Amino acid sequence: MPRRRIALISHDKKKDAMVALAREFRDQLAGCELCATGTTGRRLQDEVGLSVECMLSGPLGGDLQIGARLAVGGVDAVIFLRDPMTPQPHEPDINALVRACDVHDIPCATNVASARLLLGQLLG
Ligand code: PGA
Repeated sequence: MPRRRIALISHDKKKDAMVALAREFRDQLAGCELCATGTTGRRLQDEVGLSVECMLSGPLGGDLQIGARLAVGGVDAVIFLRDPMTPQPHEPDINALVRACDVHDIPCATNVASARLLLGQLLG
């Protein structure tokens, strides 16, 4: 089976949760092709030891880079731990990424509980 391609994004107040989630699924994620927005990706590299292709930071266009890749078939699933309580300067980019998931029917988990279900199902 080809390696799963997973994109990981987390807003600042959700980054600890993303690191904890990645630790929980570390062995499975290590067998995937991972890409992430800049700060999220670096934390996953430094704190979990995963190999991650780091895009730009989200507010600088990282969400759009992931959305563009997804739109041409380059991403199998998105884990996007959003912070629903804090306004984000790049709200249009966030909406564009989630919309691209819906347009292309790519699974997108936006909270930890759904991310666990998605990763459990996708990666076993
Ligand atoms: P970051 O971007 O991982 O670079 O912080 C995430 C975001 O805010 O979209």
